[in-house]
Amino acid sequence: MEEKERERFRTILTELRRRLTTDFEKIRDASSEEWGADLPDINDEATRTMNRRLLLSIGARSFDVIQKIDIALDRISEGDYGVCQECGEDIPVSRLELLPYAELCVECQERIEREKQS
Ligand SMILES: [Zn+2]
Repeated sequence: MEEKERERFRTILTELRRRLTTDFEKIRDASSEEWGADLPDINDEATRTMNRRLLLSIGARSFDVIQKIDIALDRISEGDYGVCQECGEDIPVSRLELLPYAELCVECQERIEREKQS
């Protein structure tokens, strides 16, 4: 991948990371308020538990993506960004546009998902 292209993806990834970090912190703050709140009755407790679960699952997902973005940013610095971690082929730019933190090409991704299912 060319230097200019790499820098473009660095900008995209940095911006995405900033947005997700903000979201993640909001969720974390919201869920810690939930944790600390008094639970006056059982119905309320059920609602809170549901909200808490939802918040935690959204939070976990953002956190997961943030980690992938960090790995991708490291790869940009090391110059091996956009290379499939399985087969070593270049990941098409069209795929990276959709998923800038992709670690695998479509073929490897699909193969691994098939293997997971079986
Ligand atoms: Zn591959």
